[in-house]
Amino acid sequence: MKKYFKIVSFGFLLLLCCGMIPRADDKFMTAQKISGRYFNVFYESGVDVRGLFKGLDVNPSDMLLTGKIKETGLLPGEELAEMLDVLFVRVCEILDMRLYSFKGTIKVCYNSEELNMIYDDLFGSDGKTRKSFYNYDFNIIYVSAENFSRDIVTHEIAHAVISHYFVISPSAKVQELLAGYAEYQLRSIPEEK
Ligand SMILES: [Zn+2]
Repeated sequence: MKKYFKIVSFGFLLLLCCGMIPRADDKFMTAQKISGRYFNVFYESGVDVRGLFKGLDVNPSDMLLTGKIKETGLLPGEELAEMLDVLFVRVCEILDMRLYSFKGTIKVCYNSEELNMIYDDLFGSDGKTRKSFYNYDFNIIYVSAENFSRDIVTHEIAHAVISHYFVISPSAKVQELLAGYAEYQLRSIPEEK
């Protein structure tokens, strides 16, 4: 048993040294976790979960088109997971890319500042500021709570779908176009005044 533990610890250290485990993820070790069908969602404690799922603005037509019936009595975290599942199915439909065994991760940090620190830690600074990004190697969507909107989350989910659908990935430019298309098609319609 001791020997097994040593091997596992050594393996973990090796991965850490080789950069296989993102160091920037340290802050999510104590994060809250909820799981839906398509995503495990981690959010830093103190993040307003109700605010997150309100930002997704999932409407009755989303529910209808995905064949989902809104459940009652769900905890805010469960509701968030369900809304993300609905958006995932909508993105797959819009892109006409069906994925049946997908499971990704979404990590929600506090603000853009933290998000950009995570990006710089993972990929090195390129001087740009981001509201969200998708880590292809680990299939993780990173987004800050202050930018957790339908448009942004839809865009990043599209990147995850595209990267899993193609055996040979299309160019970054084409992926960006497709993600932009999904975002545009699923954009929230402002309420009439
Ligand atoms: Zn993009």
